[in-house]
Amino acid sequence: MSDAETLFERIIAGEIPSEKVYEDETTYAFRDIAPQARVHVLVVPKKRYRNLAELAAGDPRLLADVASTARKVAEIEGIAESGYRVVFNTDGDAGQTVFHVHAHVLGGEQLGHFGR
Ligand code: 5GP
Repeated sequence: MSDAETLFERIIAGEIPSEKVYEDETTYAFRDIAPQARVHVLVVPKKRYRNLAELAAGDPRLLADVASTARKVAEIEGIAESGYRVVFNTDGDAGQTVFHVHAHVLGGEQLGHFGR
């Protein structure tokens, strides 16, 4: 297993420091080290699945927990009313770099269009 595959497990374990926004029994949310918007928080299930498809197939309840935590992060960050974006990058063309599924919660300003 490469470092990239274990990075978020090490962050969840506290072995690598992170700026925590929220944590509960099944999920951990922390600020992205290279924010792409004024608010950019990553929501990670503590149990590792490679990507959204594997999480959805393997543990739909845990996927619901990730969605619920994304909503809580938006409330904590004060962007629940102004609007926000939740993104799951999946594999090559999407540029996924950490193969431990995570939701990006982005907001706090007007976001641009995305795609190509
Ligand atoms: P992906 O490209 O896989 O969708 O997203 C991975 C995200 O993890 C990137 O936005 C990247 O900035 C973030 N990231 C990578 N290494 C670290 C780290 O050590 N700490 C934090 N807080 N974020 C990281």
